[in-house]
Amino acid sequence: MKHYILFGPPGAGKGTQAALMVEKFNLRHISTGDLLRREIKAGTELGRQAAALIEKGNLVPDEVVEGMIAGELAAHPHVKGFIYDGFPRTVAQAEVLDKLLADRGEAVTAVISIMIDDEMVLSRIKHRALLENRKDDADESIIRTRIANYHAKTEPVIGFYKAEGKYNEIGGEGAIEEIFGRIEKVIG
Ligand code: ADP
Repeated sequence: MKHYILFGPPGAGKGTQAALMVEKFNLRHISTGDLLRREIKAGTELGRQAAALIEKGNLVPDEVVEGMIAGELAAHPHVKGFIYDGFPRTVAQAEVLDKLLADRGEAVTAVISIMIDDEMVLSRIKHRALLENRKDDADESIIRTRIANYHAKTEPVIGFYKAEGKYNEIGGEGAIEEIFGRIEKVIG
């Protein structure tokens, strides 16, 4: 089974590219952000706790998202593979994913990192705020907190996968199809 990680700062276009990968390569998309928003919408206890953190631009605890990933893996035994979008977001999460996959006799296939700079993050998310109704997109100071959390907690994940020889970086600027072309070059 293939296990592709789409990596990058908030607003890099991970969700958009994941949808194209699903279409072309018949993979199952796992977005921890979408799963958390589903919990919030359903009004579960987990959703209530997550909402308080997400709305301030902070990460939810590692154990919460790790549990979601384990659940998704178990729930879809017959797919060709998975695309992880927004996960892992900490080195601890990356370690747990390695372990979950090792227990299945599998491993991360490749990490594709979509790179955009902080100013582009800000302008992309401000644009998205006009189209979608996400509280964490609505306020510049919350977006800045998310960018700071990305640098402090998520960027170290790059070194983890570089050490495993699985890290690939592509430019996140340009047309959607152009960026997808860069992804195909990596995984093709
Ligand atoms: P974006 O890529 O725009 O930041 P996501 O939908 O991936 O959007 O994530 C939204 C929020 O959900 C994050 O800011 C964070 O609070 C929470 N979240 C999503 N994935 C994780 C994760 N792997 N670990 C911790 N928190 C997460």
